[in-house]
Amino acid sequence: KSAHVQADETPAAIEERRVPAVLGADLKVPVKGGRLVSYANLDYAASAPCLAPVSAAVAAALPAYSSVHRGAGYASQLTTARYEQARHTVSAFAGARPDDAVIFTRNTTDATNLLARCLPEGTTTVVFDTEHHASLLPWPRSVRLAPPAFPGEAVRAADATLAAIDGPKLLVVTAASNVTGELWPIAALAHIAHRHGARILVDAAQFVPHRRLNLTALDLDYVAFSGHKLYAPFGAGVLIGRRDWPAEAEPYLKGGGAVRSVAGAVEWHDDPEPRHEAGTPNVLGAIALAAACDALTATGWTPLVREEERLIARLRAGLASIEGVRELSLWGKDHPRVGIVSFTVDGRPAREVAEVLSAEYGIGVRDGKFCAHPFVRHLVERGGDEHADGGCEDGTASAVRASIGIGTTQEHVDRLIGALRDLTSR
Ligand code: PLP
Repeated sequence: KSAHVQADETPAAIEERRVPAVLGADLKVPVKGGRLVSYANLDYAASAPCLAPVSAAVAAALPAYSSVHRGAGYASQLTTARYEQARHTVSAFAGARPDDAVIFTRNTTDATNLLARCLPEGTTTVVFDTEHHASLLPWPRSVRLAPPAFPGEAVRAADATLAAIDGPKLLVVTAASNVTGELWPIAALAHIAHRHGARILVDAAQFVPHRRLNLTALDLDYVAFSGHKLYAPFGAGVLIGRRDWPAEAEPYLKGGGAVRSVAGAVEWHDDPEPRHEAGTPNVLGAIALAAACDALTATGWTPLVREEERLIARLRAGLASIEGVRELSLWGKDHPRVGIVSFTVDGRPAREVAEVLSAEYGIGVRDGKFCAHPFVRHLVERGGDEHADGGCEDGTASAVRASIGIGTTQEHVDRLIGALRDLTSR
């Protein structure tokens, strides 16, 4: 431990101090009656707040930024070096293989759409109805699988479906659900995919803010995630994985940077990174994303996961103790999950619950169908909760989602439970 550690500090205190601060932790928001209260942000799964070291990295890059890969000037060279260093950092953070492509995108949606454009002719994609729309919708030809009743059924369904498909195939699956937070058996699914000559894309948007990803150890072909869910500002995401498909595909965008020569026949770059990153890239976004990766790695996953598990257990126990509040879950209350919980409240549309939490208690949650319409419909209808519908304009099932991360405190969790208790007893 470094020299400035106090002699009387406990190991727990040292660990605590190493967790970086989030911006906005002291935000005050108005509630009914005009009072100002501290904001309880329980909406990390939508976009997580920026970490202080991420903000510092962007501030350090701002004074000398210049266009990358083109200029001979010092600032351009420095910014190019920072951009390419960001690529290395993000690659290491994901546990990528040395020869994997690391293509910066705008977000996860952009990354899945990019891969959809890189599929070999005739590829069939197999995808569960539990996916976020970013992973459900981009595929030119897909087979959709019903939500599996237990993890082994996910593996069995993928096995049977992939076995019946000829030609190139891709299995797409989330590592952690954005609706229930539940972890998916991605190593087993990767194994099955490979047994059938298929590749696997893992949507890691909700996994990487909560758990260490090791693409190599899990034997994944592709992963996609977003900076803004990983404590960096909006605008940068990444697709990481095997080079051959993106190296052989038409450039995602056509323009400067993607092309090697335009004298005579147009020659695109063979390497996936310039080939699919035409135009001036989001350099500061990439630097921010990499800084977030560095900050999480430096903190270490053990203290982060331990604190998240403590808070999420408290939150779930609180929800379970309130009559009329039902947690949504695909695989039951004991299945491991990250810090995301969705629930319905009997007799109250989700929108009303979310609005009351904000207006009266200063709590920010998300309500609706979380860009996972088939999955939320399945969970709510299966729960048999006839009071949960009507929360959305189209009159279909919806829920409230609370999600946590670095910066979430026990008081935020307790405030939510107290508010729901008040609300359900009115
Ligand atoms: N995949 C999952 C599991 C998500 O939760 C989200 C965002 O909510 C996305 C993909 C899409 O991310 P983005 O909006 O950054 O493209």
